[in-house]
Amino acid sequence: MEKEDTQKVKPHCLILPFPIQGHINPMLQFSKRLAHKGIKITLAATKHIFKTTQHFPNSISVETISDGFDEGIGSTSTDAYVAEFQRVGSRTLTDLLAKFRSSGRAVDCIIYDPFLPWGLGVAKEFGITGAAFLTQSCAVNIIYYHVYKGKLKMPLLEKEYLFPGLPVLEPWEFPSFIYDPEQHPGSFELVLNQIKDVEEADFVFVNSIYELEKEVTDWMSKFWQVKTIGPTIPSMYLDKKLLDDKDYGLSIFKPVDACINWLDKKPPKSVIYVSFGSMAELQNEQMEELSQALKSTNNYFIWIVRSSEQSKLPNNFVKETFEKGLIVSWCSQLEVLAHDSIGCFVTHCGWNSTLEALSLGVPMVAMPWWSDQSVNAKFVMNVWKMGIRVRPDVNNVVRKGEIVRCVKDVIEGEGGEEIRKNTRKWRDLTREAIEKGGSSDRNIEEFVNVLNPRSLNSK
Ligand code: UDP
Repeated sequence: MEKEDTQKVKPHCLILPFPIQGHINPMLQFSKRLAHKGIKITLAATKHIFKTTQHFPNSISVETISDGFDEGIGSTSTDAYVAEFQRVGSRTLTDLLAKFRSSGRAVDCIIYDPFLPWGLGVAKEFGITGAAFLTQSCAVNIIYYHVYKGKLKMPLLEKEYLFPGLPVLEPWEFPSFIYDPEQHPGSFELVLNQIKDVEEADFVFVNSIYELEKEVTDWMSKFWQVKTIGPTIPSMYLDKKLLDDKDYGLSIFKPVDACINWLDKKPPKSVIYVSFGSMAELQNEQMEELSQALKSTNNYFIWIVRSSEQSKLPNNFVKETFEKGLIVSWCSQLEVLAHDSIGCFVTHCGWNSTLEALSLGVPMVAMPWWSDQSVNAKFVMNVWKMGIRVRPDVNNVVRKGEIVRCVKDVIEGEGGEEIRKNTRKWRDLTREAIEKGGSSDRNIEEFVNVLNPRSLNSK
């Protein structure tokens, strides 16, 4: 237990994430780094997340607020959920801040997820620092910025587009919410609203690495107080400075333990790891093509098929591939990616998965599904050159032959040589960024230094 008087002089940050795994994890990891540098952290969790989470990291206190759906959101639409969260969440967050203030442990800064842009308003009401935490890459944020400012007009009718700091993008390479907004109603508003007040935020943290996105970060820094602070993966996989930071500490699905033992028995770089994250739902036809592809390569494979997706596997597939494949509903992805037997990662290019592959030096076969994943895939293939993006056919299905071609190229092809060299380069640069004196570490340090005198003056 800390002594009461030490706590009093510690700056106090309150973390307000949007309650989905891919947003909570990076904010929690960032919080662990802040706590390590002497900041007191309180996580404002929704009552539902609080109830359904096994444990939270030791270095973080947890308080609850309400999103209006304390028993879970059921089939509520995205826009109805977001509106209710704003209504109930801003009120319960205000109550929480008032409680802290009256108990002598006032909050100095709210670090809010811009999926909840009203977090900044609450910070301003209390006269404290408001810091946005953007969970996508700088490139993706800037694309939303251009749409928000009316610089990128929808629908996307040009053959290609060029914006400062970005590679040339064809319409289908933009985030799906921009390219095809009708497909996911509610999500377009959610991602654009992130940009609304970011200019007003005292800090804009981005879960990225300066060296990965130099030009676009420099460009953004002209109008936002940008600080890249990534990668937000557990310290044990990076600088090993936070001794108890071995995993994210929060998992919505329960990992199956079998993978590491299984991998231990496989030769180096011989296994294809296939995962599409926590949300993607593949069409039956796509599952069939992917199954056939995995069956016909010469490689072993681990395929994560969430329980809700398992009925889409072809009949007898598990039995027929028993000797070369392991299909599980969830794993500890970091442990798997860090294993020497992994040769490539067939991924949907969720930003967390992409950062994990970059940090651990695993070449990728990019098979984006929705949201920002197509932009991440573009960078993987054309900017960082550490993977290949599959090409879907006219029905938007990636065929067996295409998957096999890409996997082969990455694992054993001539092009794969350069890809493997680049993975080592990015792995080293990514680690250096978070090590002492690296670009992300310096940004975190600067923020902590700004908070320190403020906190001492205000108490
Ligand atoms: N993940 C995991 N086990 C799995 C599959 C995924 O731990 O079997 C983790 C992965 O390490 C990553 C997160 O789930 O941190 C997925 O986030 P991402 O942004 O890649 O995709 P999303 O789930 O948001 O689509």
